[in-house]
Amino acid sequence: MSSPIETLEVTADIIDFRVIGVASFSNLAEIILERWGKLPDRWALPAFTASGPCFSNTLGAEVVPVKCWDGADRTLLDLISEIPKGCVDRNLSLVVDMRLPFINLDTIHIEDISTDQSGQACVCNPAVQEIISALITDAIKGIDRITAGGHLVSDIVLDCVDLWPMGASDEKIELTCFCQHCETKLASAGVDIEAFRRFPNPWNLCLRDSGTGVAHIDTVPTKDNEPAVEGLLRLSKMKGFLDVFRDSSSAQQKTLAKHLVRYVVARDRMTRAALAGIVQAIRKQCPEIHATVLVEGSDYDWTSGMFLSELDQDENFDELWFDPSSPRSMTSRRKNRMYMWRRSRYVLDAFFEYLDKSTDLFSRMSTGIANLAGADVTKMLEARRRQAMGHQIRGKVALMALPRDANRIGICVPAVSDAILEQVVHRAVPEHGLQTAQDLRVPRSSDRDA
Ligand SMILES: [Zn+2]
Repeated sequence: MSSPIETLEVTADIIDFRVIGVASFSNLAEIILERWGKLPDRWALPAFTASGPCFSNTLGAEVVPVKCWDGADRTLLDLISEIPKGCVDRNLSLVVDMRLPFINLDTIHIEDISTDQSGQACVCNPAVQEIISALITDAIKGIDRITAGGHLVSDIVLDCVDLWPMGASDEKIELTCFCQHCETKLASAGVDIEAFRRFPNPWNLCLRDSGTGVAHIDTVPTKDNEPAVEGLLRLSKMKGFLDVFRDSSSAQQKTLAKHLVRYVVARDRMTRAALAGIVQAIRKQCPEIHATVLVEGSDYDWTSGMFLSELDQDENFDELWFDPSSPRSMTSRRKNRMYMWRRSRYVLDAFFEYLDKSTDLFSRMSTGIANLAGADVTKMLEARRRQAMGHQIRGKVALMALPRDANRIGICVPAVSDAILEQVVHRAVPEHGLQTAQDLRVPRSSDRDA
């Protein structure tokens, strides 16, 4: 039996431009050849650096060049000309970090239910949708100009693995986002927000403080009718999540389950509507562009806020990318590419986010990392690196184990290795560790006035 790799397109995903800081495209292509037995057919590049867009744009945001493997600074357009032969018409994806980490403005940031903010953008905020669509349109049009009327960029990939981060302490679960835009949309969809400001609350039926994170049930019904609600309560009881409700009656638990279903259905609809708004705005100027949504692949993905089955039915999107080890690794309507890493990009994105927070002066002062000594931050970065690499899926055998799916058109493989991430950490952290303010990246002035 022949390996399915021959019939599948292989996309090499450059998770973050800091990878390009230590390895050339040729180096990365060789790693993929060695690991998967095939050179990449396509490349996925980030649209932004952690400090801003690396292409000229109509918003006037500062162009932040990428520090490359050979020490040269390159813009997005310069980088594209460095991609090995084979980067031709329509085989480039631009991956959009929807969190816009380079804009430090509270007005666009997500808020949890207790009104604590985190430094990432809320995609349900219309201003965020406008910024993303304007910047991505500029990137696509800029690339099209250098390809003499051709269209190098086939699709934009909306990285949705962590749109709505969660936290937990003492069984109290804190979800995002409850900014004024989200609250208005949730309330107009009939969600009783006050029911979530108590403890225990409807989230406790499916989410639990595990000590190291949030344990979850991701099989949540999309309807709040009697059989669906009873099924949810049975699952919740079986998994031990009902223990915190020992003082409530079964009628009260049913009411909580209905609140929960209303919440997840509303969150799914408003998230997909926000993404669709961005895609439609980009297509006004770039009508041929395809839209891909990158998620982990659970039935209901708590941190993307979307049901995989609803995404599969949504005609605003062309492709879905998700982890092949998810329980439903097939789609019935959308084309799919398996993202060959457990939890898709979640742990890899988290590694680079932690790297940013620990090496940026402003972030260090405003997060818990400020309390850690320099050497401890370095140790923590090493632990995060090992954790991220521990999620990799390797080799052709993993491909042969996938269920056959007529909608599968390819796989996406992160272009990273242990050695590359080690070098990324080494480059970001001075020999003596992060000891003083001078060791840290001082925020660019544009971060404050963007
Ligand atoms: Zn919000």
